[in-house]
Amino acid sequence: MKKLVLVSAALFTLCAGPMGSRADEVAVVVAGKPQDAAETYRADGKLFLDAKSAGALYGGQVYWYAVSGRVQLSLRGRALQFVAESKTVKAGDQEFKMGEPLLVRTSRAFIPLSFLSGADFSAWSGFQTRYDERMKTVVVEKTGTIGSPRVFSYKGRTRLAVELAPDAVYRASARGTGGAELVFDYGVAEGDEKTEIDDGVVASYAFKQEAKLVRLSIRFAVNGQKWRAVELTDPRRVALDVYAPGAEISDEAPVAAAKIPAPAKAAQPSGEKKRRLIVIDPGHGGKDPGATGGHGTREKDVNLAAAHELANVLKERGDFDVVMTRDEDVFIPLSERSELANEKNADLFVSLHCNAASNKHENGFEVYSVSETASDPAAEAIADAENSVLELEGKNPQDETAKAILLAMTKTEMINESAAFSALSEKAIGKRVDVAARGAKQAGFYVLRGTHAPAILVEMAFVSHVKDEARLASRRFRRTMAEGVAAGIADYARRQGWLE
Ligand SMILES: [Zn+2]
Repeated sequence: MKKLVLVSAALFTLCAGPMGSRADEVAVVVAGKPQDAAETYRADGKLFLDAKSAGALYGGQVYWYAVSGRVQLSLRGRALQFVAESKTVKAGDQEFKMGEPLLVRTSRAFIPLSFLSGADFSAWSGFQTRYDERMKTVVVEKTGTIGSPRVFSYKGRTRLAVELAPDAVYRASARGTGGAELVFDYGVAEGDEKTEIDDGVVASYAFKQEAKLVRLSIRFAVNGQKWRAVELTDPRRVALDVYAPGAEISDEAPVAAAKIPAPAKAAQPSGEKKRRLIVIDPGHGGKDPGATGGHGTREKDVNLAAAHELANVLKERGDFDVVMTRDEDVFIPLSERSELANEKNADLFVSLHCNAASNKHENGFEVYSVSETASDPAAEAIADAENSVLELEGKNPQDETAKAILLAMTKTEMINESAAFSALSEKAIGKRVDVAARGAKQAGFYVLRGTHAPAILVEMAFVSHVKDEARLASRRFRRTMAEGVAAGIADYARRQGWLE
């Protein structure tokens, strides 16, 4: 790390000319996973990415012919040819024009970021590249034709749904008696995955890019389980339904199919069950940005983006109603958030937040439920930080806390139910995300206190940790997090007998 800083400093000294050019580092996140920082070069307000870093970013190789001034970027057996100080890029018979030329500074080549994030490179490489100026982060997502699997556990059935590009094809087949698979010929996966489900119906699944296909292999909980594949629309996707051991394939309409009317009551003998309402609370907003990361990530933005993902996942599940306390960048006092939940008769309340610590090494996610006393001093400090917005509301946190404790004391049952909800959510999230699990904890969060429903607060990751911050900047991480929270909600709802 020290060496990189020295190199940057040297470049700065050599090249900082009257045009205001300089070398710098940016954070990088590929398919939701943080990578080593990449070196960049800024000239005339335009950002250039070190060619070697670019190669690593896309999993390709970079060859730099210093004498002829040529740079070759090879990716999956094809190559792009750049020439120093030229805006022309050759790709076999094709030719692309860049907005800025390939820069060569101190024997290193820099590719204009505007080219890497443009449509030509995206189509050629199969990667979508976006530079988040505010977070100083390069976000790379594979533009797959086959989306990452989403898992929904229902009573007696588990569904794995995969989004498909319009021309994508699939084949479904058994894998012996212990599993099933979906094969997508010529498909491009967004990224590989291996996940343990262990919900009593599906043991695990693996989603993998192979040479000319994508394969989704599903392992059943026990041999001989029934399964079926169905195609759904809007957006186009294929769902593989696995039925619980001993259960038969039922003819009910797919619960999760968007825009398909709810099944008639006759087809659902026990369809009397009331739909439960989940209130999602994206923390902070408006004049209250929440915590801010080293790269400038604002907690309020991440919370809102993650809340939208969670709402979408719950909508696709199809068996809950959803309300958000805010769906734009506005300031809402803490008490109004819980009041809204109470007014709407919420069955569950989920507040989404990002953690921050003065120790930059702290990382991972944790799930909180409310209690009179914090489970440990660190938990208390986090609750204090999240409650500090009360001052922005012109309230004294101490007075408000005392009031809230009185309110909460009468609701021991809610405290216990919230702890159970928190534990199930923590487990469900931990199965899906690739950040450290710090546990299910308790502390005196004001926003959870006034809610007359089991309520949790999820600290998704640390904005104060370099790699966690990069994760939070990526849609893929936020979606995986949302899937974990949704699975926790479903687990709790099943425990309560709320779901079919
Ligand atoms: Zn917060």
